[in-house]
Amino acid sequence: MTGPEPASGDRQGTLLVVNCGSSTLKLALFDLRLHKIASVLAEKLEQFQATAHIQGDPAPVPLPSHASHRQALEAVIQALFERGWLTQAPVAIGHRVVHGGERFRQAVRIDDRTREAIADCASLAPLHNPVNLAGIDSTRSLFPGVPQIAVFDTAFHQTLPPRAFLYALPQRFYRQWGVRRYGFHGTSHAFMLTETARLLGQLPEQTSLISAHLGNGCSIAAIDHGHSVDTSMGLTPLEGLVMGSRSGDVDPGLFDFLKTKGIGQDELHRILNEQSGLLGLSGQSNDMRTLCELADQGHEASATAIDVFCFRLARYIGAMMASLRRLDALVFTGGIGENSARIRRQTLASLGLLGFAVDPERNSAHGRQSHGHIESGASRFPVLVIATDEERVIAGESLRLATPHT
Ligand code: ADP
Repeated sequence: MTGPEPASGDRQGTLLVVNCGSSTLKLALFDLRLHKIASVLAEKLEQFQATAHIQGDPAPVPLPSHASHRQALEAVIQALFERGWLTQAPVAIGHRVVHGGERFRQAVRIDDRTREAIADCASLAPLHNPVNLAGIDSTRSLFPGVPQIAVFDTAFHQTLPPRAFLYALPQRFYRQWGVRRYGFHGTSHAFMLTETARLLGQLPEQTSLISAHLGNGCSIAAIDHGHSVDTSMGLTPLEGLVMGSRSGDVDPGLFDFLKTKGIGQDELHRILNEQSGLLGLSGQSNDMRTLCELADQGHEASATAIDVFCFRLARYIGAMMASLRRLDALVFTGGIGENSARIRRQTLASLGLLGFAVDPERNSAHGRQSHGHIESGASRFPVLVIATDEERVIAGESLRLATPHT
């Protein structure tokens, strides 16, 4: 043992949460009271320098060069056993699955049928669902008989009405191919609903809010009486707000224009997903904290990137109000939403006409460590900062579905 002492004690069992990204693998281990025991990050999978670390343990988990998701998962699980974090098979394993199409309106237990349905959704998320399936297949063979649960990014938004999910395209695209807006970050937005209801002392089904999840990916959702009724991401997680390296909304006419400049399909995909957003605008970084520092040092393009980010967000907050019958709170979450008083202040400064007003002291005081109100007495609506915890939600769903009668 080289790392910190694993928290074993009176543990009755563990829940394992698996989140396979395109080149990353994140694992989290929870006890049955949903306290996090350990987390693991494997990066640069399928590349020469693939690495994996258990948080707080200086000894890396040895991985083969160009480790696949399956190889990384096997190595990490073995290390969790060898180093004492796991002593027996988990009680349940929860998987983050990006796209559930229209098939999945909530989390499900994975069996052969649901596995095939997840595979069928892969055409809607070709970068994500196949690696999510690799994680599912690996843990099913490592832990046969342990309940496996899929929790979908899209599921919470399946309550969107047609007026919000239809694109103004020929309807046959929707009917034949499922071309529509699905929305993502559903686990985080659903968590904002329950936490907002708790903070305001109301029932979730009576709570209406606008939830702004601002991390590397950014999306906003309008939640009316407990149901998602509008959101900024669409068929894919590219639509909507300005993100770290994703453009968010652009004029589709751009594609024809760039073709005349010799920019083909593959390059366009890379530009819109990897070279745009904060990174494209600033020319420096996709990281908001870095851009705030650079802007403070007088770097103009970074200040412009922040301006575009905040203005787009403010416009979307205004737009989301058209979907709501009432508003109990505007909520900020995600790495930027939780930590950056500056971004919250600058965004809300454009929304005075709608009645939002922020209190500078409360705005500075609240962050990742402390949930709370940041509006001033003059604000028409409460404004909250709430730290998201998607892994914990997935662990909770896994426990619920693995032990349905308790
Ligand atoms: P992910 O979407 O990958 O989970 P996070 O939710 O952790 O990412 O958000 C990452 C973003 O949060 C980065 O842009 C980071 O710079 C930003 N962030 C974290 N702390 C701060 C801060 N104090 N000020 C501004 N931005 C911050």
